[in-house]
Amino acid sequence: MSDTVNKSEDEWKNILTSEQFYVLRQKGTERPFSGKFEKFDEKGHYVCAGCGNDLFSSDTKFDAGCGWPSFFDAIDKSKVKQIPDNSHGMRRIEVQCAKCGGHLGHIFNDGPRPTGMRYCINSVSIDFKADTIKK
Ligand code: FE
Repeated sequence: MSDTVNKSEDEWKNILTSEQFYVLRQKGTERPFSGKFEKFDEKGHYVCAGCGNDLFSSDTKFDAGCGWPSFFDAIDKSKVKQIPDNSHGMRRIEVQCAKCGGHLGHIFNDGPRPTGMRYCINSVSIDFKADTIKK
């Protein structure tokens, strides 16, 4: 992955909303059931709100009932990075955009078939595109 995005904190502040900056760059979490994509079923795909990297297809979105948009797979494994996160007294795996390092959410192993994984993603971290990208 030579195709990466590196920006300074000030540069990110200029192009992101304060809410996006808080989640993507400071690893914040939006309030559950508050995000624009938590109940959203349009066909298309989701990109990183920071850099536009293609991340998730609507074909893999499911209602986990957890309060955040959930996907059982990424468009391509190379699109996301998984980083151990032991903050807040929990052992979790953080999901980052592989292109800009933006914080997307966390991944858990209680998802549906075929992967059994649940990518629990902040709505703030992603944007929706109406064209479908297949895996
Ligand atoms: Fe990104």
